[in-house]
Amino acid sequence: MSKWVYQFDEVAKAEKYAGSWEDVRALLGGKGAGLSDMTRAGVPVPPGFTVTTEACNWFRKTGQFPPGLWNEVLKAMKVVEKQAGKKFGDPKNPLLVSCRSGAKFSMPGMMNTILNIGLNDEVVEGLARLANNPRFAWDSYRRLIEMFGTTVFNLDDEIFEHPMAEYKAGKGYKVDTEMTAEDWQALVAAFKSAYKQHIGSDFPQDVYNQLELAIKAVFESWTGKRAVDYRNKEKISHELGTAVNIVTMVFGNMGDDSGTGVAFTRDPSTGDKKMMGEYLLNAQGEDVVAGIRNANPIENLSQSMPKAYKQFMDISGKLEKHYKDVQDVEFTIERGKLWMLQTRNAKRTAKSAVKIAVDMANERLITKEQAVQRITPDTVDSLLHPQFDEIAMSDAQKNGKFFGKGVNASPGAAVGQVYFDADTAQKMAQEQKQDTIMVRPFTKPDDVHGMIASKGVLTSEGGATSHAAVVARQFGIPCVVGASAIKIDLEKRHMTVGDVVVKEGEWISVDGTTGKVFLGKMPTTAPSLEEQTELLTLLKWADEICARKDVRAAPIKGYPTRGLQVWANADYPQDARRARSYGAVGIGLCRTEHMFFEPERLPIVQDMILSETSEGRTTALNKLLPYQRKDFDGLFEAMDGYPVIIRLIDPPLHEFMPDEEKLLEEVITMRVKGETAGLKEKEDLLNAIKGMHESNPMMGLRGVRLSISMPEIVEMQVRAIFEAAADCTKRGIVVKPEVMIPLTGTVKELEWIQPRLERIAATVMEEKKVKFEYKFGTMIEIPRAAVTAEEIAQHAEFFSFGTNDLTQMTYGYSRDDAERNFLVTYVEQGILEQNPFQTLDRNGVGKLMEWAIAEGRKSRPDLEVGICGEHGGDPSSIEWCHMIGNNYVSCSPFRVPIARLSAAHSALKHRPQKQAAGTARKAAANGGASKAKSKTAKKKTKVKGR
Ligand code: PEP
Ligand code: MG
Repeated sequence: MSKWVYQFDEVAKAEKYAGSWEDVRALLGGKGAGLSDMTRAGVPVPPGFTVTTEACNWFRKTGQFPPGLWNEVLKAMKVVEKQAGKKFGDPKNPLLVSCRSGAKFSMPGMMNTILNIGLNDEVVEGLARLANNPRFAWDSYRRLIEMFGTTVFNLDDEIFEHPMAEYKAGKGYKVDTEMTAEDWQALVAAFKSAYKQHIGSDFPQDVYNQLELAIKAVFESWTGKRAVDYRNKEKISHELGTAVNIVTMVFGNMGDDSGTGVAFTRDPSTGDKKMMGEYLLNAQGEDVVAGIRNANPIENLSQSMPKAYKQFMDISGKLEKHYKDVQDVEFTIERGKLWMLQTRNAKRTAKSAVKIAVDMANERLITKEQAVQRITPDTVDSLLHPQFDEIAMSDAQKNGKFFGKGVNASPGAAVGQVYFDADTAQKMAQEQKQDTIMVRPFTKPDDVHGMIASKGVLTSEGGATSHAAVVARQFGIPCVVGASAIKIDLEKRHMTVGDVVVKEGEWISVDGTTGKVFLGKMPTTAPSLEEQTELLTLLKWADEICARKDVRAAPIKGYPTRGLQVWANADYPQDARRARSYGAVGIGLCRTEHMFFEPERLPIVQDMILSETSEGRTTALNKLLPYQRKDFDGLFEAMDGYPVIIRLIDPPLHEFMPDEEKLLEEVITMRVKGETAGLKEKEDLLNAIKGMHESNPMMGLRGVRLSISMPEIVEMQVRAIFEAAADCTKRGIVVKPEVMIPLTGTVKELEWIQPRLERIAATVMEEKKVKFEYKFGTMIEIPRAAVTAEEIAQHAEFFSFGTNDLTQMTYGYSRDDAERNFLVTYVEQGILEQNPFQTLDRNGVGKLMEWAIAEGRKSRPDLEVGICGEHGGDPSSIEWCHMIGNNYVSCSPFRVPIARLSAAHSALKHRPQKQAAGTARKAAANGGASKAKSKTAKKKTKVKGR
């Protein structure tokens, strides 16, 4: 029989049923699993139980509780009553509970929570007597009615906020603390009548009825808009469902010996190893999280409640060690007794994620491999994002552009137009393509869509643990919170500091790193990788993982047993230098034609193209030779000791000629005006361009086909490459040139061109009297080349997958037009899972690559294989390249760090079984994530077996 409910002290049973810890988390949700795990570890957790995600999924499908669930809830409540020494619904000794959502993956604030369940007209009186605090009891009751109405019946907040504001105004109160017991009692009456008016029935007095409706409401919140949007953004499966935790209420608002707070075991913004948190005396948890009252820094608790503080620090430290990660903990102190309400791995900024991972590995809390695995490619990406230029920032300060300062909640620079609500911020960003900054007094879960759409977020209230701060940090959105000098007028749609006014739609610059806000647009600078020492360390560890000799099993001869190297696509020495400083260990693609476009060269190139004889072409090319030699010289020098792949000319020649339509217009204008000077030259040029016209130039005279039609160009290029390489060698630079022939479709093309070029290479070395390593190879961009790779590799010493063209040719989609015309619709309609020009299509293009490598290595086991299409910087495509036996990936210099990390992730994920098992054992001993793997593997085998 199914079990739908697990008491917090029944985690062993959950483990027995689910298997791995990951599966326990899937069953009980992160919060439920955490509370159970804490209970097992002897941490003071209020008694309670978890209703499983399986129950939620049943409810979602049928609209009803699964059979047996309600009985289990009733039984579990009896156990909780016993553990807590209180009784649910009993005015003499009342037990109150909270009903909290908790999915496998934390979705902060996206689903529902109801507190103080178990209060009714009788119990509230009893609680007031028992606590000797009527004010607290009536305040708790009005909170329940409000939460119940808004959560279970989706009533608007306003229905309760409005009578409360009116009541307070009538009494002349400014803050809630001025409300007396009688005031709260009066408000309870007002709330109950508002409730009845909108629901059509009284607020339920049957406490079990309250509990049942609350559980259903939490189940339903799984499919609420907020939660669905969040899961889409975070790529969390909609099938998981949420668990529901029923937890004994403990109260931080029982007087000055009570309090509540939230804390992080390390600073989630900087990663510093220092507890960071906030607490409030005589308050309930939501008061801290909502940031409505200004909370005290956690260290002050050592003065106000030294015993509880010490116990709290002790427990938090242990929790961090137990989970081997920074914890985000919630606690309540009820009359001097500490209760831990939640612990979860803390959301953090990209910067702190890297620092924490590296620090924890250095502290030997986790392994270097785990540190590398914890950082996602997106995290690294955001660390390479812009920051404000420091000089511009100090100039802005001097020039009166400083507007205000708050808490630097999520780092990074954001420049955008101000909007004062989430919907408008999102609309302007999506429809008008504006850069927006969302400005609010504080944010709520309903605002997340506006935050995600914005470049930055600014609030005037709340602190480092407020909703705005936590969400922004998670999504890497620069954010400043609690800039209290800024007065936001939501009605007038402006904000002010003194007499400086910023109206909706005006520009501001928000610096999440320093917490400063400036008027207008401020320039940003790209961050320097060199200064990010922890990131450099992490990337060094990533490289070490990839460099291991046995990280890949070799299915066939020639298959690399090391991980991927990361090379870069770079055309100029400055790109090559950047690539090297970002950790590239080779140039995988230098597109030589880019150099032909430079102003002093283009006329020579055009002369060459227009020449009708081979001699004429050679004369022009001789003029280009010194330029090209210099280009390559610079590249070799920048990449001293590393391979440099230089691709011979690839595009169709018309790309170097003036625009045909424009020229035609000029000719017509001259003819109409009767201008003759220069007309003939223009007409000849126009005719020549017309003569080059092709209906389908991407499939026309380009690549190796062009080289065979006009070998003089590539002959000049090869001479320039080898002359430069020889000169560099003489200067003591270690050169490893690799000449790449593009767009090969048949081996016969290589047979035709390659020996001619190799002869030039030999001649130059002979002339210059130097020798160095070099290779001749080809791009694999045409399906036929991939299919006939065995033949191609008889000539080519290396393959580089030009996956831009290979994708174009395999799908038959024009790479220049598809995105604009139909690709977006295809992805939207699910015809394509993703844009194949961004993420490699493993089933089609990927299969061709796999085949080509295997076939190629049949002829040449030491065939070097790389990729130089845009996919070389995409994590999923990099993983595929690792799996099929590439030696390296090559990508834009800016993506090199991301590619290094992705390469290490692939190596760890796919390392040979034996080694993985060893590490799994080690990690299992640490209670680590490897348990999840064993379960998944088990599941897979099962499916296969069937
Ligand atoms: C490719 O086709 O993937 C490639 C790198 O070449 P290009 O983009 O220059 O055609
Ligand atoms: Mg190409």
